[in-house]
Amino acid sequence: MARQRNKRVKVVGGGHSPSDIACTDDFMIQMGKMNKVLKVDKEKQQVTVESGIFLSDLNVELSKHGLALANLGAVSEVAAAGVIGTGTHNTGIKHGILPTQVVGLSLLTASGDILECSESINADIFQAARLHLGCLGVVLTVTFQCVPQFHLHEVTFPSTLTEVLNHLDDHLKRSQYFRFLWFPHSENVTVIYQDPTNKPPSSSANWFWDYAIGYYLLEFLLWISTFVPSLVRWINRFFFWLLFSSRVENINVSYKIFNYECRFKQHVQDWAIPIEKTKEALLELKAALENNPKMVAHYPVEVRFARADEIWLSPCFQRDSCYMNIIMYRPYGKNVPRLNYWLTYEGIMKKYGGRPHWAKAHSCTRKDFEKMYPAFPKFCSVRDKLDPTGMFLNTYLEKVFY
Ligand SMILES: Cc1cc2nc3c(=O)[nH]c(=O)nc-3n(C[C@H](O)[C@H](O)[C@H](O)COP(=O)(O)OP(=O)(O)OC[C@H]3O[C@@H](n4cnc5c(N)ncnc54)[C@H](O)[C@@H]3O)c2cc1C
Repeated sequence: MARQRNKRVKVVGGGHSPSDIACTDDFMIQMGKMNKVLKVDKEKQQVTVESGIFLSDLNVELSKHGLALANLGAVSEVAAAGVIGTGTHNTGIKHGILPTQVVGLSLLTASGDILECSESINADIFQAARLHLGCLGVVLTVTFQCVPQFHLHEVTFPSTLTEVLNHLDDHLKRSQYFRFLWFPHSENVTVIYQDPTNKPPSSSANWFWDYAIGYYLLEFLLWISTFVPSLVRWINRFFFWLLFSSRVENINVSYKIFNYECRFKQHVQDWAIPIEKTKEALLELKAALENNPKMVAHYPVEVRFARADEIWLSPCFQRDSCYMNIIMYRPYGKNVPRLNYWLTYEGIMKKYGGRPHWAKAHSCTRKDFEKMYPAFPKFCSVRDKLDPTGMFLNTYLEKVFY
Protein backbone atom coordinates (compact mmCIF):
# COMPACT_ATOMS: atom_id res chain seq x y z
CA MET A 1 0.00 0.00 0.00
CA ALA A 2 2.88 2.35 0.86
CA ARG A 3 4.40 1.72 -2.56
CA GLN A 4 1.09 2.26 -4.38
CA ARG A 5 0.47 5.52 -2.52
CA ASN A 6 4.06 6.67 -2.81
CA LYS A 7 4.44 6.78 0.96
CA ARG A 8 7.35 5.96 3.20
CA VAL A 9 7.25 3.53 6.12
CA LYS A 10 8.66 3.98 9.60
CA VAL A 11 8.80 0.97 11.88
CA VAL A 12 8.98 1.67 15.62
CA GLY A 13 9.53 -0.29 18.80
CA GLY A 14 9.15 1.57 22.08
CA GLY A 15 9.38 5.02 20.42
CA HIS A 16 11.87 5.87 23.17
CA SER A 17 14.48 7.52 20.95
CA PRO A 18 14.90 11.14 22.05
CA SER A 19 15.93 12.22 18.52
CA ASP A 20 13.50 12.20 15.58
CA ILE A 21 14.96 8.95 14.22
CA ALA A 22 11.68 7.14 14.95
CA CYS A 23 9.38 9.86 13.54
CA THR A 24 7.54 10.12 10.23
CA ASP A 25 4.73 11.99 8.49
CA ASP A 26 3.90 8.89 6.43
CA PHE A 27 3.00 5.34 7.47
CA MET A 28 4.10 4.02 10.85
CA ILE A 29 4.20 0.38 11.87
CA GLN A 30 4.28 -0.20 15.61
CA MET A 31 5.65 -3.66 16.37
CA GLY A 32 4.15 -4.02 19.87
CA LYS A 33 2.04 -7.07 19.00
CA MET A 34 5.01 -8.97 17.62
CA ASN A 35 6.25 -9.66 21.11
CA LYS A 36 6.65 -13.43 21.50
CA VAL A 37 9.62 -15.48 22.58
CA LEU A 38 10.00 -17.91 19.66
CA LYS A 39 12.82 -20.18 20.80
CA VAL A 40 15.07 -20.73 23.80
CA ASP A 41 18.22 -22.76 23.11
CA LYS A 42 19.41 -23.62 26.61
CA GLU A 43 22.57 -25.31 25.41
CA LYS A 44 23.82 -22.32 23.41
CA GLN A 45 22.13 -19.90 25.86
CA GLN A 46 20.46 -18.13 22.95
CA VAL A 47 16.95 -16.78 22.64
CA THR A 48 15.05 -15.87 19.46
CA VAL A 49 12.28 -13.30 19.85
CA GLU A 50 9.84 -11.37 17.71
CA SER A 51 11.35 -7.95 17.20
CA GLY A 52 8.70 -5.90 19.03
CA ILE A 53 9.18 -7.57 22.40
CA PHE A 54 10.12 -5.10 25.12
CA LEU A 55 13.28 -5.95 27.00
CA SER A 56 11.26 -5.54 30.22
CA ASP A 57 9.19 -8.59 29.16
CA LEU A 58 12.20 -10.44 27.79
CA ASN A 59 14.09 -10.02 31.08
CA VAL A 60 11.26 -11.77 32.94
CA GLU A 61 10.94 -14.53 30.32
CA LEU A 62 14.68 -15.16 30.35
CA SER A 63 14.82 -15.44 34.12
CA LYS A 64 12.27 -18.30 33.91
CA HIS A 65 14.93 -20.18 31.95
CA GLY A 66 17.79 -19.17 34.24
CA LEU A 67 19.14 -16.76 31.61
CA ALA A 68 19.74 -13.01 31.31
CA LEU A 69 21.12 -10.39 28.92
CA ALA A 70 24.73 -9.58 29.84
CA ASN A 71 24.09 -5.84 29.71
CA LEU A 72 21.16 -3.43 29.43
CA GLY A 73 20.58 0.33 29.09
CA ALA A 74 18.88 2.52 31.67
CA VAL A 75 15.36 1.55 30.61
CA SER A 76 13.84 -1.72 29.44
CA GLU A 77 10.63 -0.32 27.89
CA VAL A 78 12.45 -0.56 24.58
CA ALA A 79 12.06 -3.19 21.87
CA ALA A 80 14.53 -5.84 20.72
CA ALA A 81 14.75 -4.27 17.25
CA GLY A 82 14.71 -0.74 18.71
CA VAL A 83 17.89 -1.14 20.75
CA ILE A 84 19.73 -2.43 17.70
CA GLY A 85 18.18 0.38 15.65
CA THR A 86 20.22 3.04 17.44
CA GLY A 87 23.01 1.17 19.24
CA THR A 88 21.81 1.29 22.83
CA HIS A 89 24.68 0.91 25.28
CA ASN A 90 25.36 0.72 28.96
CA THR A 91 28.75 0.53 30.60
CA GLY A 92 31.55 -1.97 31.27
CA ILE A 93 34.77 -2.02 29.30
CA LYS A 94 34.56 -5.80 28.85
CA HIS A 95 31.08 -5.40 27.38
CA GLY A 96 30.05 -4.11 23.97
CA ILE A 97 26.98 -2.05 23.15
CA LEU A 98 23.70 -4.03 23.20
CA PRO A 99 23.82 -4.97 19.47
CA THR A 100 26.99 -7.00 20.16
CA GLN A 101 24.72 -9.46 21.99
CA VAL A 102 22.84 -10.15 18.74
CA VAL A 103 23.89 -13.30 16.87
CA GLY A 104 21.12 -13.46 14.28
CA LEU A 105 18.09 -11.64 12.90
CA SER A 106 15.58 -11.75 10.09
CA LEU A 107 14.69 -8.80 7.91
CA LEU A 108 11.71 -8.10 5.65
CA THR A 109 13.09 -5.90 2.89
CA ALA A 110 11.37 -3.29 0.71
CA SER A 111 10.99 -5.91 -2.06
CA GLY A 112 9.02 -8.19 0.31
CA ASP A 113 11.80 -10.78 0.69
CA ILE A 114 12.66 -12.17 4.11
CA LEU A 115 16.40 -12.50 4.75
CA GLU A 116 17.93 -14.56 7.53
CA CYS A 117 21.19 -12.91 8.66
CA SER A 118 24.06 -13.96 10.93
CA GLU A 119 27.88 -14.12 10.93
CA SER A 120 27.61 -17.01 8.42
CA ILE A 121 24.48 -16.18 6.37
CA ASN A 122 24.19 -12.83 4.58
CA ALA A 123 27.17 -11.73 6.67
CA ASP A 124 27.41 -8.23 5.16
CA ILE A 125 23.75 -7.48 5.74
CA PHE A 126 24.15 -8.81 9.29
CA GLN A 127 26.98 -6.37 10.06
CA ALA A 128 24.83 -3.53 8.75
CA ALA A 129 21.60 -4.68 10.41
CA ARG A 130 23.09 -5.11 13.89
CA LEU A 131 22.87 -1.29 14.00
CA HIS A 132 20.31 -0.62 11.29
CA LEU A 133 18.85 2.87 12.01
CA GLY A 134 15.50 1.49 10.87
CA CYS A 135 16.50 2.01 7.23
CA LEU A 136 17.14 -1.52 5.94
CA GLY A 137 13.65 -2.98 6.25
CA VAL A 138 11.40 -4.40 8.95
CA VAL A 139 13.34 -6.42 11.51
CA LEU A 140 11.10 -9.41 12.24
CA THR A 141 13.09 -11.52 14.68
CA VAL A 142 16.23 -11.10 16.75
CA THR A 143 18.43 -13.80 18.33
CA PHE A 144 20.37 -12.77 21.43
CA GLN A 145 23.34 -14.51 23.00
CA CYS A 146 22.48 -14.67 26.70
CA VAL A 147 24.39 -15.52 29.87
CA PRO A 148 23.30 -17.42 32.98
CA GLN A 149 21.03 -15.33 35.20
CA PHE A 150 23.01 -13.30 37.76
CA HIS A 151 22.66 -10.86 40.63
CA LEU A 152 24.49 -7.55 40.74
CA HIS A 153 25.95 -5.79 43.73
CA GLU A 154 25.88 -2.02 43.24
CA VAL A 155 28.10 0.23 45.31
CA THR A 156 27.75 3.99 44.92
CA PHE A 157 30.23 6.30 46.61
CA PRO A 158 31.42 9.93 46.35
CA SER A 159 34.70 11.00 44.80
CA THR A 160 36.23 13.88 42.86
CA LEU A 161 36.75 14.40 39.15
CA THR A 162 40.51 14.63 39.61
CA GLU A 163 40.66 11.35 41.53
CA VAL A 164 38.51 9.46 39.02
CA LEU A 165 40.29 10.78 35.94
CA ASN A 166 43.74 10.15 37.43
CA HIS A 167 42.81 6.56 38.34
CA LEU A 168 40.52 5.68 35.48
CA ASP A 169 42.31 2.42 34.65
CA ASP A 170 42.07 1.27 38.28
CA HIS A 171 38.35 1.95 38.37
CA LEU A 172 37.84 0.15 35.06
CA LYS A 173 39.72 -2.88 36.42
CA ARG A 174 38.06 -2.83 39.82
CA SER A 175 34.46 -3.06 38.62
CA GLN A 176 32.95 -4.91 35.68
CA TYR A 177 30.22 -2.31 35.09
CA PHE A 178 31.92 0.90 36.23
CA ARG A 179 30.43 4.29 35.44
CA PHE A 180 30.48 7.70 37.07
CA LEU A 181 28.36 10.83 37.30
CA TRP A 182 30.03 14.20 37.25
CA PHE A 183 28.24 17.20 38.73
CA PRO A 184 29.09 20.12 36.39
CA HIS A 185 30.27 23.41 37.95
CA SER A 186 31.98 21.36 40.67
CA GLU A 187 34.63 18.70 41.33
CA ASN A 188 31.98 16.31 42.66
CA VAL A 189 31.64 12.83 41.25
CA THR A 190 29.55 9.81 42.14
CA VAL A 191 31.26 6.52 41.32
CA ILE A 192 29.03 3.52 40.60
CA TYR A 193 30.41 -0.01 40.70
CA GLN A 194 28.21 -2.92 39.67
CA ASP A 195 29.51 -6.47 39.93
CA PRO A 196 28.08 -9.99 39.91
CA THR A 197 27.45 -11.47 43.34
CA ASN A 198 25.91 -14.56 44.94
CA LYS A 199 24.41 -12.54 47.76
CA PRO A 200 20.59 -12.24 48.08
CA PRO A 201 18.75 -9.00 47.15
CA SER A 202 18.91 -6.08 49.55
CA SER A 203 17.85 -2.52 48.89
CA SER A 204 18.43 0.89 50.35
CA ALA A 205 15.78 2.56 48.16
CA ASN A 206 13.86 5.25 50.00
CA TRP A 207 10.81 6.98 48.51
CA PHE A 208 11.38 10.21 50.42
CA TRP A 209 14.96 10.75 49.28
CA ASP A 210 14.66 9.15 45.83
CA TYR A 211 11.38 10.78 44.79
CA ALA A 212 10.26 13.55 47.14
CA ILE A 213 13.74 15.09 47.09
CA GLY A 214 15.53 13.57 44.07
CA TYR A 215 12.58 14.07 41.73
CA TYR A 216 9.94 16.56 42.88
CA LEU A 217 12.15 19.01 44.77
CA LEU A 218 14.78 18.87 42.01
CA GLU A 219 12.21 19.59 39.30
CA PHE A 220 10.82 22.52 41.28
CA LEU A 221 14.26 24.03 41.94
CA LEU A 222 15.32 23.59 38.32
CA TRP A 223 12.13 25.36 37.28
CA ILE A 224 13.01 28.26 39.63
CA SER A 225 16.49 28.31 38.07
CA THR A 226 14.99 29.02 34.65
CA PHE A 227 14.46 32.58 36.01
CA VAL A 228 17.88 32.74 37.75
CA PRO A 229 20.22 30.45 35.74
CA SER A 230 23.17 31.02 38.09
CA LEU A 231 21.27 28.92 40.66
CA VAL A 232 22.09 25.77 38.68
CA ARG A 233 25.65 25.53 40.00
CA TRP A 234 24.28 25.66 43.57
CA ILE A 235 21.56 23.13 42.81
CA ASN A 236 24.20 20.72 41.48
CA ARG A 237 26.30 21.08 44.64
CA PHE A 238 23.30 20.97 46.99
CA PHE A 239 21.93 17.77 45.49
CA PHE A 240 25.32 16.09 45.52
CA TRP A 241 25.61 16.91 49.23
CA LEU A 242 22.01 15.85 49.90
CA LEU A 243 21.79 12.62 47.93
CA PHE A 244 25.21 11.46 46.79
CA SER A 245 27.72 12.25 49.50
CA SER A 246 27.59 8.88 51.27
CA ARG A 247 28.15 5.26 50.28
CA VAL A 248 25.05 3.30 49.23
CA GLU A 249 24.72 -0.40 48.39
CA ASN A 250 22.04 -2.40 46.59
CA ILE A 251 21.82 -6.02 45.47
CA ASN A 252 19.27 -7.37 43.05
CA VAL A 253 18.72 -9.47 39.95
CA SER A 254 20.84 -7.95 37.14
CA TYR A 255 18.16 -6.15 35.14
CA LYS A 256 16.75 -4.39 38.20
CA ILE A 257 20.18 -2.92 38.91
CA PHE A 258 21.00 -2.05 35.28
CA ASN A 259 17.74 -0.12 34.89
CA TYR A 260 17.46 3.20 36.68
CA GLU A 261 15.17 6.20 36.98
CA CYS A 262 15.80 8.87 34.33
CA ARG A 263 13.51 11.40 36.04
CA PHE A 264 11.55 14.00 34.10
CA LYS A 265 11.61 15.44 30.56
CA GLN A 266 15.03 16.23 29.22
CA HIS A 267 17.27 16.93 26.22
CA VAL A 268 20.35 14.71 25.88
CA GLN A 269 23.50 14.32 23.83
CA ASP A 270 25.69 11.25 24.20
CA TRP A 271 28.84 10.91 22.09
CA ALA A 272 31.41 8.13 22.16
CA ILE A 273 35.07 9.17 22.08
CA PRO A 274 38.18 6.95 22.10
CA ILE A 275 38.62 5.86 25.71
CA GLU A 276 42.11 7.34 25.99
CA LYS A 277 40.64 10.82 25.39
CA THR A 278 38.29 10.66 28.40
CA LYS A 279 40.38 12.82 30.70
CA GLU A 280 41.28 15.54 28.19
CA ALA A 281 37.72 15.83 26.92
CA LEU A 282 36.10 16.05 30.36
CA LEU A 283 38.64 18.56 31.63
CA GLU A 284 38.07 20.66 28.53
CA LEU A 285 34.32 20.63 29.14
CA LYS A 286 34.88 21.61 32.77
CA ALA A 287 37.20 24.46 31.73
CA ALA A 288 34.69 25.68 29.15
CA LEU A 289 32.00 25.89 31.86
CA GLU A 290 34.38 27.71 34.22
CA ASN A 291 35.40 30.21 31.54
CA ASN A 292 31.85 30.94 30.50
CA PRO A 293 29.76 31.69 33.61
CA LYS A 294 26.62 32.26 31.53
CA MET A 295 26.70 28.66 30.27
CA VAL A 296 24.88 26.38 32.72
CA ALA A 297 24.81 22.58 32.80
CA HIS A 298 22.42 20.36 34.72
CA TYR A 299 23.73 17.34 36.57
CA PRO A 300 24.72 14.67 35.86
CA VAL A 301 27.22 14.30 33.07
CA GLU A 302 27.09 10.50 32.91
CA VAL A 303 30.30 8.79 31.83
CA ARG A 304 30.14 5.17 30.65
CA PHE A 305 32.46 2.81 28.80
CA ALA A 306 32.11 0.16 26.09
CA ARG A 307 34.34 -2.36 24.36
CA ALA A 308 35.33 -1.99 20.71
CA ASP A 309 33.28 -3.92 18.13
CA GLU A 310 33.06 -4.56 14.39
CA ILE A 311 29.53 -3.28 13.77
CA TRP A 312 29.72 -0.86 10.84
CA LEU A 313 27.74 2.04 12.31
CA SER A 314 28.56 1.41 15.95
CA PRO A 315 30.05 4.46 17.71
CA CYS A 316 32.50 1.90 19.20
CA PHE A 317 33.56 0.57 15.78
CA GLN A 318 37.12 -0.71 16.23
CA ARG A 319 37.86 1.27 19.37
CA ASP A 320 37.23 1.00 23.12
CA SER A 321 35.09 4.00 23.90
CA CYS A 322 33.93 6.41 26.55
CA TYR A 323 30.35 7.67 26.25
CA MET A 324 29.78 11.09 27.78
CA ASN A 325 26.07 11.85 28.20
CA ILE A 326 25.09 15.47 28.87
CA ILE A 327 21.63 16.51 29.91
CA MET A 328 19.40 19.56 30.18
CA TYR A 329 16.13 18.90 31.98
CA ARG A 330 12.87 20.51 30.96
CA PRO A 331 11.25 21.12 34.36
CA TYR A 332 7.44 20.88 33.97
CA GLY A 333 8.07 20.68 30.22
CA LYS A 334 9.72 24.14 30.08
CA ASN A 335 12.58 24.46 27.61
CA VAL A 336 15.83 25.66 29.17
CA PRO A 337 18.31 27.46 26.87
CA ARG A 338 21.08 25.04 26.00
CA LEU A 339 22.51 26.09 22.63
CA ASN A 340 25.88 27.30 23.97
CA TYR A 341 26.41 24.23 26.12
CA TRP A 342 25.31 21.94 23.29
CA LEU A 343 27.66 23.52 20.72
CA THR A 344 30.59 23.64 23.13
CA TYR A 345 30.13 19.97 24.00
CA GLU A 346 29.75 18.96 20.34
CA GLY A 347 32.88 20.91 19.43
CA ILE A 348 34.88 19.08 22.11
CA MET A 349 33.48 15.69 21.10
CA LYS A 350 34.33 16.32 17.43
CA LYS A 351 37.83 17.50 18.32
CA TYR A 352 38.48 14.19 20.12
CA GLY A 353 37.15 12.05 17.28
CA GLY A 354 33.67 11.52 18.77
CA ARG A 355 30.72 9.74 17.19
CA PRO A 356 27.18 10.70 18.33
CA HIS A 357 24.60 8.28 19.72
CA TRP A 358 22.12 7.67 16.90
CA ALA A 359 19.09 8.05 19.19
CA LYS A 360 20.10 11.35 20.77
CA ALA A 361 20.57 14.96 19.70
CA HIS A 362 23.39 15.88 17.29
CA SER A 363 23.85 18.16 14.32
CA CYS A 364 25.87 15.80 12.10
CA THR A 365 25.21 15.12 8.45
CA ARG A 366 26.51 12.70 5.83
CA LYS A 367 29.84 14.57 5.52
CA ASP A 368 30.52 14.04 9.23
CA PHE A 369 29.51 10.39 9.18
CA GLU A 370 31.74 9.69 6.18
CA LYS A 371 34.69 10.94 8.24
CA MET A 372 33.64 9.19 11.44
CA TYR A 373 32.82 5.74 10.10
CA PRO A 374 35.34 3.89 7.90
CA ALA A 375 32.59 1.40 6.94
CA PHE A 376 30.01 4.10 6.08
CA PRO A 377 30.26 3.42 2.30
CA LYS A 378 29.70 -0.31 2.92
CA PHE A 379 26.56 0.45 4.95
CA CYS A 380 25.31 2.79 2.20
CA SER A 381 25.79 0.16 -0.46
CA VAL A 382 23.81 -2.44 1.56
CA ARG A 383 21.08 0.16 2.11
CA ASP A 384 21.00 1.10 -1.60
CA LYS A 385 20.65 -2.57 -2.51
CA LEU A 386 17.93 -3.40 0.04
CA ASP A 387 15.93 -0.19 -0.26
CA PRO A 388 16.68 1.49 -3.62
CA THR A 389 13.66 3.81 -3.50
CA GLY A 390 14.16 4.97 0.10
CA MET A 391 10.93 3.40 1.39
CA PHE A 392 12.34 3.31 4.95
CA LEU A 393 13.79 6.83 5.08
CA ASN A 394 12.55 9.80 7.09
CA THR A 395 13.80 13.36 7.62
CA TYR A 396 16.43 12.27 10.15
CA LEU A 397 17.80 9.60 7.82
CA GLU A 398 17.87 11.96 4.83
CA LYS A 399 20.42 14.05 6.77
CA VAL A 400 22.45 10.90 7.37
CA PHE A 401 22.46 9.64 3.78
CA TYR A 402 22.11 12.76 1.55
C1 LIG B 1 14.43 7.34 29.56
C2 LIG B 1 15.40 6.87 28.49
C3 LIG B 1 16.57 6.23 28.88
C4 LIG B 1 17.47 5.80 27.91
N1 LIG B 1 18.62 5.20 28.32
C5 LIG B 1 19.54 4.82 27.41
C6 LIG B 1 20.76 4.20 27.79
O1 LIG B 1 21.00 3.94 28.98
N2 LIG B 1 21.66 3.89 26.83
C7 LIG B 1 21.41 4.14 25.52
O2 LIG B 1 22.26 3.85 24.69
N3 LIG B 1 20.25 4.69 25.11
C8 LIG B 1 19.32 5.04 26.02
N4 LIG B 1 18.13 5.58 25.60
C9 LIG B 1 17.85 5.61 24.17
C10 LIG B 1 17.16 4.29 23.75
O3 LIG B 1 17.87 3.18 24.23
C11 LIG B 1 17.15 4.16 22.23
O4 LIG B 1 16.49 5.26 21.73
C12 LIG B 1 16.47 2.88 21.72
O5 LIG B 1 16.65 2.81 20.34
C13 LIG B 1 15.00 2.90 22.03
O6 LIG B 1 14.40 1.69 21.63
P1 LIG B 1 12.93 1.72 21.06
O7 LIG B 1 12.42 0.32 21.00
O8 LIG B 1 12.13 2.71 21.81
O9 LIG B 1 13.24 2.21 19.60
P2 LIG B 1 12.47 3.32 18.68
O10 LIG B 1 12.75 4.65 19.25
O11 LIG B 1 11.05 2.92 18.53
O12 LIG B 1 13.22 3.11 17.31
C14 LIG B 1 14.58 3.29 17.18
C15 LIG B 1 15.00 3.00 15.74
O13 LIG B 1 14.80 1.60 15.47
C16 LIG B 1 13.92 1.44 14.36
N5 LIG B 1 13.09 0.25 14.60
C17 LIG B 1 12.47 -0.09 15.74
N6 LIG B 1 11.87 -1.29 15.57
C18 LIG B 1 12.14 -1.70 14.31
C19 LIG B 1 11.83 -2.86 13.54
N7 LIG B 1 11.13 -3.88 14.03
N8 LIG B 1 12.28 -2.94 12.29
C20 LIG B 1 13.00 -1.93 11.76
N9 LIG B 1 13.33 -0.82 12.42
C21 LIG B 1 12.90 -0.71 13.68
C22 LIG B 1 13.13 2.73 14.26
O14 LIG B 1 12.69 2.93 12.96
C23 LIG B 1 14.18 3.75 14.70
O15 LIG B 1 15.00 4.05 13.61
C24 LIG B 1 17.20 6.01 26.54
C25 LIG B 1 16.00 6.64 26.15
C26 LIG B 1 15.11 7.07 27.13
C27 LIG B 1 13.84 7.74 26.69
